Amino acid sequence: MKYDRIIINDIGKASVCPICNNEDTDIKGDYCQICGAFLRNKCTNLDCDIELSGDSRYCSICGAESTFHKGGLLKDWTDSKDKFTTSTPLIDNIDLDKKTADESFIPNYYLTKDN
Ligand SMILES: [Zn+2]
Ligand SMILES: [Zn+2]
Repeated sequence: MKYDRIIINDIGKASVCPICNNEDTDIKGDYCQICGAFLRNKCTNLDCDIELSGDSRYCSICGAESTFHKGGLLKDWTDSKDKFTTSTPLIDNIDLDKKTADESFIPNYYLTKDN
């Protein structure tokens, strides 16, 4: 599946602010001029500090949280996944198999991220 993402424009900022829906983000600076949200998705690890794709909740290099996820611009992957599975019709026994599979696959960062 593909998770929901924020569309990034040519200058590396969200093309529409996900907080206030401001569409005039193609301007100087990294913050939304309407609501103050940080509109670049970057790794929050300052030693890493790379620019991430619009669907990145975590850094693909070091595993630290992304600025979009930390700022609440991107939903947690489990929320997106729930929304996706409930909107998809499934027959009962397949649904049951899927739940079992999901529970056995919990990435380490999810278990330890609040520590
Ligand atoms: Zn905004
Ligand atoms: Zn990183």
